[in-house]
Amino acid sequence: MEIIKNYIDGTLVEPKSGAYLDNFNPATGQVYSQIPDSAEEDVNDAVKAAKLAYPSWSKTAKETRSEILAKIAMLIEKNLDRLALAESMDNGKPVSLAKQVDIPRAATNFNFFATAILHYASESHAMENGVINYTLREPIGVAGCISPWNLPLYLFTWKIAPALAAGNTVVAKPSEVTPMTAFLLSELCIEAGLPAGVLNIVHGLGNKVGAAITTHPDIPMISFTGGTATGAQIAKEAAPMFKKLSLELGGKNPNIIFADCDFEKMLQVTLKSSFSNQGEICLCGSRIFIEKPLYEKFKTAFVEATEKLKVGNPQSGDSDLGAIVSEEHMDKILSYIELAKEEGGSILAGGNRVSLSGEQEKGWYLEPTIIEGLGHECRTNQEEIFGPVVTLIPFDSEEEVIEMANSTKYGLSSTIWTKDLNTAHRVAENLHVGIAWINCWLLRDLRTPFGGTKSSGVGREGGFEALHFFTEPKNVCIKY
Ligand code: NDP
Repeated sequence: MEIIKNYIDGTLVEPKSGAYLDNFNPATGQVYSQIPDSAEEDVNDAVKAAKLAYPSWSKTAKETRSEILAKIAMLIEKNLDRLALAESMDNGKPVSLAKQVDIPRAATNFNFFATAILHYASESHAMENGVINYTLREPIGVAGCISPWNLPLYLFTWKIAPALAAGNTVVAKPSEVTPMTAFLLSELCIEAGLPAGVLNIVHGLGNKVGAAITTHPDIPMISFTGGTATGAQIAKEAAPMFKKLSLELGGKNPNIIFADCDFEKMLQVTLKSSFSNQGEICLCGSRIFIEKPLYEKFKTAFVEATEKLKVGNPQSGDSDLGAIVSEEHMDKILSYIELAKEEGGSILAGGNRVSLSGEQEKGWYLEPTIIEGLGHECRTNQEEIFGPVVTLIPFDSEEEVIEMANSTKYGLSSTIWTKDLNTAHRVAENLHVGIAWINCWLLRDLRTPFGGTKSSGVGREGGFEALHFFTEPKNVCIKY
């Protein structure tokens, strides 16, 4: 059984208490590794190491920082198969998805910020009479980075890479549910020659390790991705300490389909935006609004295509959906399907747990599920389910669909399907979201601002937005 270790001050170490937690493989429902049950004392060691490493790392030439980050990216690429298998075993996602999306993106995150820092410039503002202002953007200190379980290495590195590129040192915590690839990353960082203490990874529970990071007085900035309730808790704790906060939280994204869309393309992408990664992507479109003239045609084709999706062993090449990340999460999703029935919804496809045989007999699998007949204001259509469950809602007019789409407390992303560009632009402008995709989904240019509005978060990641977050601007005014 693999024993995961913390990565503190450049070495792999046990938690001080010697206590470990079980780590499950969702595909089999069995424990397959042990994870440190770290505590505040481990976080204190990590912060101490990060503080010691900071003066040297922040003064290291950006070209050198860039080279080290690029080397980490290269090692991730070199270990693609091993990392993809580890991600699949930890999270339950199809190994093919981890190989095509999660792990390549983790390498890209390091490569992207390794080069972005070389192009990062600051502003100058000239005044009349021989006065010039220039802006210094300096690293801040020790960054706290906390990430969720749905895209483990992908989201973990999306925070760490810009923090390190900007010259900060980092104390990071992956989700306790999916720690394995973060552990493998610590081995790769050692191999890449990342100086000791520059990145520290402490494993363990959110309410112990996570809370010790967010409340630590020597961590002045927190980049967090996870649930809205956890984000609110972090904001409450961090606000009186005036920490910089970047919060990427939950979503209940609308997928708006107009009757004039390219039907085949929309259908193909809607299957992905509904059920990729078992629907456990914050950007999945879980409320599908369909213009009335297209409703019956869409419903028939979508149900037929969904029923063809294969739920199976994540490690076999032909599984479209793998296992749900944990038993607790599977039960939560099933409880929402029950709620949808109580609220008057009809299940058009799925709705049940899937039982596999052999080694996967005790795994946590769910059918992709489609529900219709619910009003937009019911709980099923207002609360984040974060699983392979979507609802179908017909609409008559653009105004009506915008009102329904904006009716939740969330505002992360949206998808709009139409051939009429005027409609597309108008709807995108009127939706309360941070990201609007038109005739596509999850197309990502890493230079663009990424994040949500309302209860979906505060701040933006991506490109120079991330580098702005991980640096402090200082204005210098000179009269000559
Ligand atoms: P959680 O909020 O439960 O956990 C996220 C991370 O925070 C985990 O590492 C967790 O540790 C840690 N944590 C838990 N409690 C605390 C605390 N009190 N203080 C500090 N850290 C804490 O989210 P999930 O892992 O369940 O992830 C799913 C959620 O993430 C969904 O709501 C989804 O929408 C959202 N998400 C948002 C994205 C975005 O970009 N907007 C992208 C991806 C997901 P532990 O695992 O040990 O509990």
